[in-house]
Amino acid sequence: MYGKGILKGLSVTWKRFWDTYTEDISWMLSGKKRYYTEEGIKHRASKHTKGIFTVQYPEEQLIQPEEFRYVPFLVYDEGAEGKKEVRCTSCGICAKVCPPQCIWIVRSNDPNTGRPIPEPTEFYIDADVCMNCGFCAEYCPFDAIIMDHDFDIASYTRNVYGMDKLLKPASYYKNIRPENYERNDAERKAKEAARAAKAAAKPAAPAS
Ligand code: SF4
Ligand code: SF4
Repeated sequence: MYGKGILKGLSVTWKRFWDTYTEDISWMLSGKKRYYTEEGIKHRASKHTKGIFTVQYPEEQLIQPEEFRYVPFLVYDEGAEGKKEVRCTSCGICAKVCPPQCIWIVRSNDPNTGRPIPEPTEFYIDADVCMNCGFCAEYCPFDAIIMDHDFDIASYTRNVYGMDKLLKPASYYKNIRPENYERNDAERKAKEAARAAKAAAKPAAPAS
């Protein structure tokens, strides 16, 4: 029959429209807020929602799943008196594996000893070139570079991130990727314990 498809489509639209209001009323009666709340956004993004399933971006934003990947950041641990202990050792593996080659690292030497300083002097990521593949985070042996969730970075200027922008505390990492953080933390602690046990098992050097 001519027009059957149009009627079918309109019925879907009408059902969504109707369900939006019945769902809004049921949330209102139960004293919950369906809009501009984490609970409401999560429910609208779930398969249990009825009616409207979009969000009012940018006032509302979808809650990112843990494995969501955007431009990476560098992790630092919070040491004594708030000292930033940067995990990166400037080994350069991330820069080497990065497919579009958008990572630059500047290393330097200790002026007194002339030996290389592990922490990078400068570290840049061209966020406009980064394709969010996650290779850098995957290959980093020190869990020092992690994929971020912050996708809201559109600007009129070029986004080349330096260390001031890239460095974020381990607590931020734990907050956005709790499962990854726990797993990596357990692995790091196990490695440290194994290293300590190996060092303790070494026979002491004979006294001269
Ligand atoms: S972020 Fe990781 S892989 Fe990249 S230079 Fe630093 S330690 Fe090496
Ligand atoms: S996510 Fe991929 S493209 Fe972006 S900096 Fe890391 S390796 Fe390079």
